[in-house]
This record gives sequence, structure tokens and C-alpha cells, in this order.
Amino acid sequence: MYEHDLLIIGAGLAGLRAAVEGVRGGADVAVVTKVHPVRSHSNAAQGGINAPLTDRGDDWESHALDTIKGSDYLADQDAVEIMSREAGEAVIELEHMGVIFSRDDEGRLGTRRFGGQKVARTFFVGAITGSALLHVLYEQAIKYGLRVYEEWFVTSLIEEDGVVRGAVALDLRTGELHTIRAKAVIIAAGGAGRVFEPSTNAIICTGDGLALAWRAGAPMMDMEMVQYHPTTLARTGILMSEAARGEGAYLLNKQGDRFMETYAPEYLELASRDVVSRSEQTEINEGRGIDGNVLLDLRHLGRSFIEERLGYLQEVAVEFLGMDLANDPVPIRPGMHYIMGGIKTDVNGRTEAPGLYAAGECANVSVHGANRLGANSLLDTVVFGRRAARHALEYIKSVNGTSRDESQLEADKARLQALLDRPQGIRSAALRREMAEAMTEGIGVFRDQASMERAETAVRRARDQFANVSVQDKGKTFNMDLMFALELDYVIDCAEAICAGALARKESRGAHYRTDITQRDDENWLKHTLVYKTDEGLRVDTSPVAITKWEPVKRVY
Ligand SMILES: Cc1cc2nc3c(=O)[nH]c(=O)nc-3n(C[C@H](O)[C@H](O)[C@H](O)COP(=O)(O)OP(=O)(O)OC[C@H]3O[C@@H](n4cnc5c(N)ncnc54)[C@H](O)[C@@H]3O)c2cc1C
Repeated sequence: MYEHDLLIIGAGLAGLRAAVEGVRGGADVAVVTKVHPVRSHSNAAQGGINAPLTDRGDDWESHALDTIKGSDYLADQDAVEIMSREAGEAVIELEHMGVIFSRDDEGRLGTRRFGGQKVARTFFVGAITGSALLHVLYEQAIKYGLRVYEEWFVTSLIEEDGVVRGAVALDLRTGELHTIRAKAVIIAAGGAGRVFEPSTNAIICTGDGLALAWRAGAPMMDMEMVQYHPTTLARTGILMSEAARGEGAYLLNKQGDRFMETYAPEYLELASRDVVSRSEQTEINEGRGIDGNVLLDLRHLGRSFIEERLGYLQEVAVEFLGMDLANDPVPIRPGMHYIMGGIKTDVNGRTEAPGLYAAGECANVSVHGANRLGANSLLDTVVFGRRAARHALEYIKSVNGTSRDESQLEADKARLQALLDRPQGIRSAALRREMAEAMTEGIGVFRDQASMERAETAVRRARDQFANVSVQDKGKTFNMDLMFALELDYVIDCAEAICAGALARKESRGAHYRTDITQRDDENWLKHTLVYKTDEGLRVDTSPVAITKWEPVKRVY
């Protein structure tokens, strides 16, 4: 049994930013993470982090409007305002903590322009922005005495009288389950990319945090809003960062045309991601693609520029396709990348489950609405990670002691043992792949009633078959087979919520583009979808979108 004031589940950027706030505030804070902190998916972010800095002639309102337009007016404008106003300070604070951002020739922080934005306001560290941020935050948190349970896998939240009071976690090294008691819990467990196949996300992105909060009664919001990134490498699905287009790369079809001239005459390749992905998919569907792909062309940028500014992308092209970006346009296509939906929270990270906060990709504040702008996610993690911790520190002052209840630990021991005791059955990997491919097919760049119903049927089948999943490794030490099975349970929860949200929304907005209802319908659908898990099954509800000063208008790029 372990005990802390504040328990944070997840050591990516959201979790570590929250942790730094907590330990600096003098609280006894612990982070539990299923991988070493710096192996969290945040580590993979290359492109950068947005901030409107006033000394660059930029301003928070311009960033807020780009974000809101990008979201197809589904983002809550009060939340966006907070993010845009706090962005500059949050990024400069990271610099002061020790992040060495790339600089321009005059020695000022370097910027590049990302999609859906008129201004170059994306700050970066070479091609390793996420990694650089993550290492600095980890170092800061450790300096202030953060306790890290690393390679521990959370199996359940502990609830007492409807209040979240800690978690049960499996120490992967020993195979033992433990109770970690806390006065408040922040979930910062990242995205759910593995609900889809393929995805740019690491295999650890299995939506555990979303499912844990959902099971504790917090609704998932706008889960139908799944981002397909416009440039993932053919065959492998590896992300070719938006930095490529930010630095001037073109998109070409089979005939060598820059087809974005037709779809987004002003922004071209730097329209918002949903728009670019749909344009590419239209080219492919109408026969102007090459083997299901279009081309990303950097040749005109020249070898030295490519190697200096986009060296990592050059490495990927050479290693995975044997292609040289200075000589060859590379085949790319839209690929599942990010989940705009998540656990509904207020601007202080509070979920509808008392004692439980959420921040980062697993949360939905909502600042991304129906489509996230590139480089706004890293910003979201640091701004709202910090806010969640600040609020939680206040909240724990009112909490007297921690729970003494061990019943969740006993229930989880029995649940895991039952999985291990099942002699033979289906392999979790095969079951996940089958369902995840059906999700991509049914809830892709384009979708309609029939395709979404097919996805839902596949998810229902996966839920039924999960009862027959077996774990072949019966050992205690690093039993990954057992962990994959537990993750699949979470993945299926997320898929259920995505299908429910998608089938509920009877319009097209942002990433949710229905070929059977192609119009945005502000009269009936300028609202969030909420999906609750109840004892009687799923319950779908809606809630209003916060509109402050930007009335929805037609979105044109
Ligand atoms: C390839 C790639 C490139 C990207 N590039 C950019 C970019 O340039 N700019 C941008 O703004 N965004 C980018 N994004 C998105 C952005 O990186 C993520 O949305 C963001 O980093 C998520 O941070 P997080 O802290 O919420 O979660 P993560 O970094 O995913 O961390 C999740 C944490 O939760 C822990 N965890 C999960 N489940 C459990 C469990 N059951 N028990 C214990 N611990 C658990 C994990 O161990 C991990 O520590 C990119 C995403 C990808 C996939």
C-alpha cells in the first residue's frame, strides 16, 4: 500500500507538467506510468508547439480565432481563450526550465508556420520538440522530489462513496498488484490511436485513461472527432511531420498537379488537417492517386535545406522507402493520428467524477473541437496539465485522509487471475487488429451511416470475443501478454464510445465528414456529444458549445 496527496496517471507532457506544478507547490505527488517517462508518446512529437508571442506582432486573439475556425466552431471558446492567453508564458517558462528551442539567424526563437494558421507561431527544437520538452520536465520533476512508479500499469481507479481516491496498479517487473491511495487523481494517460489500424501512435496509446475515467462515471465527449493526419508514409503509416509542409513542401497528384489549389486556394497545403486529408482522399478515390497515395514533394527546397531543417524526415524516407527527399517525391496518405474527443473536463481539468481530473490528449477541455491544429496539442498538455494540478492542490486541502478500502485490489487480483487461468482462447493482438481495421474502414476520413454501423458491429463482436481472450504467458515478470489483454479491454471501451458519438452526430463537421449528410448543421448540432457508460449500457447525451465572441461562419481556407 502506498499513499500520496496527488496521484498522476501518465508521465507524458501533460502528466509531467502537472507533476512539476504539484511538487513545486509542496505537495506529496506521485506519477505512475506504464513505460519509463521519457518513452511516453509525447516523445515522438517533432513539429513543435504553438504560442502567439506579442513581441512577434502576434496576439492571442489571432491564435484563438485560428484554433476556433480549425475546430469547425465546436471548441469551447472560453477554453480556447485561456489556452491562447496562457500560451506565451507557458512556452517561455519551458525555455527558462532549460528547453533549448531552435533559433533563427538573429538569435531569436525560431518559428515555422503550421496548418490552419496565418502566422508562423510554431516553436520547435530541431525535429525532437516533444523529446526535448519531456526530458526537461522529467528532470525538473525529479529535482523537486517527484515519486515515480515506473513500469506500473493502472488496472482500476479506487472509488469510495462516488469519490475517486487512488488507483490499483500492476508492478510489471514483479507482477504484483498494489493500491496507491491519494486525495486526488489526475489522469494524463494519453491518446487512443490503437483503436485504429494503422495509426501514427505508439503501441502504448491504447486509451487506458479514457476508459478508466469512463468506468468511474465521467463522460467521453466528441469521440467521433478522430484526426487523420494528411501525411503518413505509404506502407508503414509513419508520420511525415507537418513541418515538411510548414517549410514549403507541396502535395502532388498522379498528374503532378498541386491539387490543393482547387480545394484551398488561399492556404493550399497549409489548410487545416481535416481539409487536406479529405482533399487527398478525394484525389485518391477519383483515380488521381498512385496505389492509394498522393505525393509529398520537397525537391524544390534543396538538399542542404532539407538536411538542415528536416533531417529526420530524410532519414525516414531513406530507411523505410529507400527514397531521397532531395530527388524523389514520396508517397503519403491520410493516417489516423490524434483523438480530439476525450474525457470531458472543465478549464481546470475537473471531470464529472469527483476527485478525478484529466489533462492532455485523454481529456477534452475542449480546445480542439472537431479538428485540432498542428502544434496545438503540446500546448494543450502544458497549459491544462498545469491548471489541473493547480486546482487539484486546492481541492486536496479539503480532503481528510485517504481511503482504507482494499476491495478494488481484491477485485483486480481476481480479474487478472481469471485471465491467466483461462487455458486457451483468442489472442488479444489478432482481436485488436481485426477491430481496429474495421474502425479505420468504417470511421475514416469519409464515413456514412452504413460504414459506421459496420464498425459498430465489429466493436460489438470484439466486446463479445474479449471474454475468450487468453494469456499464454503465465509468468509474473514483465508479462506483456497480460498487459496487452488488459489494454485491449480499454481499447474496446474507446471504440464503443467513438461509434456511439459518430452515429449520434447527424451532420458533417470538421473530421466527422458523412458522405450521406454533407452539411454542417449549426441549428441542431452546434453541440457536444457525450457518451456515458452506465449499468444499463451506453447513454448518449449532448451539451452546448461555449460561444463567447466568435459566431460560427462558413469555413473556407
Ligand atoms: C508521431 C506523433 C507526432 C506528434 N507531433 C506533434 C507535434 O509536433 N506537435 C503537437 O502539438 N502535437 C504532436 N502530436 C500529438 C502530441 O504529441 C500528443 O497529443 C501529446 O504528446 C500527448 O501527451 P500526453 O501527456 O497527453 O500523453 P502521452 O505522452 O501519450 O503520455 C501518456 C502517459 O500515460 C501513461 N499511461 C497510459 N496508460 C497507462 C496505464 N494504464 N497505467 C500507467 N500509465 C499509463 C504512459 O505510460 C505515458 O506516460 C504528435 C503525436 C504523434 C503520435
